[in-house]
Amino acid sequence: MQTDVETAVIGGGIVGASVLYWLAKLGMTDTVLIERRELTSGSTWHAAGNTTYFGPYPAMTRLFAGSIRTYQMAEAESDHSIGFHQTGSLRLAATEKELAQFHRFKNTYADLGIPYHIRTPSEVAALHPYLDTSAIYGAAHTPTDGHVDPTGATYACANAARAMGAAIERHRPVTGLKPTADHWVVETEKGAITAKNVVIAASFWARELLAPLGINVPLYATQHHELITEPLAGLDTRDTELPAVRDSYASCNVRQEGQGLLVGIYESDPKFWGLDGIPKDFAEDLFPPEVDRLMPHLERVIERMPAFGELGIKTVNNGPFCFTPDGLPMLGPLPDHSGLWMASGFNVGIGTGGGSGEYLAHWMVNGQPHIDLPAVHADRFGNDISQAQAITAIQSVYARGYTLPDAI
Ligand SMILES: Cc1cc2nc3c(=O)[nH]c(=O)nc-3n(C[C@H](O)[C@H](O)[C@H](O)COP(=O)(O)OP(=O)(O)OC[C@H]3O[C@@H](n4cnc5c(N)ncnc54)[C@H](O)[C@@H]3O)c2cc1C
Repeated sequence: MQTDVETAVIGGGIVGASVLYWLAKLGMTDTVLIERRELTSGSTWHAAGNTTYFGPYPAMTRLFAGSIRTYQMAEAESDHSIGFHQTGSLRLAATEKELAQFHRFKNTYADLGIPYHIRTPSEVAALHPYLDTSAIYGAAHTPTDGHVDPTGATYACANAARAMGAAIERHRPVTGLKPTADHWVVETEKGAITAKNVVIAASFWARELLAPLGINVPLYATQHHELITEPLAGLDTRDTELPAVRDSYASCNVRQEGQGLLVGIYESDPKFWGLDGIPKDFAEDLFPPEVDRLMPHLERVIERMPAFGELGIKTVNNGPFCFTPDGLPMLGPLPDHSGLWMASGFNVGIGTGGGSGEYLAHWMVNGQPHIDLPAVHADRFGNDISQAQAITAIQSVYARGYTLPDAI
């Protein structure tokens, strides 16, 4: 059991595992990841695993692009499958404005060397024969992204990090953090660990973990649904999987799952959870499904994909994930608390976790991140944002779903 390390990472979801992996890649292996239950037992285990290259801002695309690359590297180094399905993605343009915004991403993808095409409605129909393309203006197409198995990707990163010398402690809840003159004391139910650096990768648990230090982070959990259908006729005879679809009109994503469809919804009126504190006994739990709340969106999914309306729903997962007031993660050092680093606040943590691990690890090991991305800096909300302010902002950013910010 570790008692003194250079860096302790708290939280064993996709983000904590990615940070641990990248710290090791950059030479920092005197590390321990501390997880209160099992790896992935927060939001990661129930995620759909969608890993697109298409971020909400051109700059954020770099975190998305780094993620698939990270998981593939970790897979090769650990021999643990990440279950990558390279289906490609279509981002539908519901308006002319959206299509114009998609054109503005071209340079970003060219710089990154990632294939990116603007497709006409008839090209979209050829790529995805179940879509009714009569009301769309086209789509952005990223043919080399897809989805991973989130548990597989987490274990690949964790195992590859361990092979380089990192340690992992499971079933060891962190109960408190105490600063001393030159290090942190990480208190756990199984004894304390001292560390020069502490990385908070504890998602929506981070708010309560940091509050005793006088640090107010606006990280809150909302519920989020995904639905899996019965088999869709004709999918079994196709040579390739359908591309994943993201649609601002229905505020949903739809991808192939086995021979059925998997639909994730961003409702216009999201439901929060754990506002008064995350229940101490919360384990690998899901909430009761509330499909009625999703109906306005599902009706639009049927408009886009009439075959969906004919299918029975096999599984509904309603789980928690973490949101910040602007929908972007919190990454980097916390001001006035030397050695305390944030890696929390991910609502697309599978899509951005790997790249975020790379970003934070460069900052910690080399003194600065390898790319310039102030939009995610952990100090951007200050310390005084109230719960009411944060909730209002999160409601609006969640409800925006796949609509891009006006500035693009
Ligand atoms: C239904 C649904 C579908 C989703 N689909 C996708 C998708 O397709 N693509 C995508 O990118 N994202 C998706 N997400 C979001 C994704 O699940 C999260 O963004 C991601 O899992 C966050 O990873 P994380 O490591 O930040 O948090 P978590 O996975 O929640 O990990 C945090 C960890 O910290 C641990 N922890 C907390 N407190 C302590 C403590 N005191 N001591 C020790 N350990 C502690 C927890 O036990 C937990 O394991 C989906 C979410 C939902 C709900």
